[in-house]
Amino acid sequence: MLDGRHALVTGGGTGIGLAIATALARAGAQVTITGRRAEVLQDAAAGLAAPVTGGLHPLVMDVTDEAQVSDAIARATAARGPLHICIPNAGIAEGRAIHKTDTDAWRRIMATNLDGSFWTIRESLASMRDADWGRVVAISSIAGLKGLKGAAAYSASKHGLIGLIRGLSEDYMGSPLTFNAICPGYVDTEIVSRNADAISARAGISADAARDMMIAQNRHHRLIAPDEVAQAVLWLCGPGSCSVNGQCIEIAGGQV
Ligand code: NDP
Repeated sequence: MLDGRHALVTGGGTGIGLAIATALARAGAQVTITGRRAEVLQDAAAGLAAPVTGGLHPLVMDVTDEAQVSDAIARATAARGPLHICIPNAGIAEGRAIHKTDTDAWRRIMATNLDGSFWTIRESLASMRDADWGRVVAISSIAGLKGLKGAAAYSASKHGLIGLIRGLSEDYMGSPLTFNAICPGYVDTEIVSRNADAISARAGISADAARDMMIAQNRHHRLIAPDEVAQAVLWLCGPGSCSVNGQCIEIAGGQV
């Protein structure tokens, strides 16, 4: 389905990003995966099991550094041609009360989740604009659609990302490019494990109890699998979804 397509997945070495990159590569795409840790990216690329027609191509890129984003995306397109699919997925989730959120913490969250996505999309569009088909699918969060208690800065960054996607879908309406966001609830990745440890330390409960609190938010009573998010992205990159544009798709087990 995606033979001849070049995809970029930021944060593609772990968790949701790796599941998305794998699904796209299995559908035939050449996928540039980025992150800050070269070893993690190399292991991810080496771990892609055969048979697969596409491939995973590691590239170190810190999304909080504008020059690095610009340079890395230019190198990816020089190596594998213009981008057709852009998945701004890299993100951090730090929950803390507003009176404990200093400016450094606020900037760190915005720099990664919002500035990073902005630079990733802007630099990707430089080559995507010339193609006859393109998909941008941002990984926001259910916290991009409603406030997440104890995580106002994270919620603001993910709401901002949805605003960016909705604005771009209007700017490019009628062109061969579409812009959508996925809004997951709690997904079974390192973010949830780190969150459980943080809640455990803060609230004086076990990490398992903290994890159960997150599971309780999902009315299917389980964490979401990364591949469930990946399959939605794959559908948005497939032939049946070309009229889906400017949308936020919740994958949250009915979390309200
Ligand atoms: P992970 O921690 O596994 O993934 C985060 C990825 O982002 C890592 O690969 C990390 O790579 C990369 N990353 C973080 N900071 C930077 C940076 N400055 N520059 C480049 N890459 C960076 O967690 P998930 O897979 O769960 O998270 C992926 C996305 O999904 C995030 O945007 C998150 O907010 C969102 N999400 C997750 C949910 C969940 O419950 N898990 C729920 C809703 C949304 P490295 O550290 O090597 O740079």
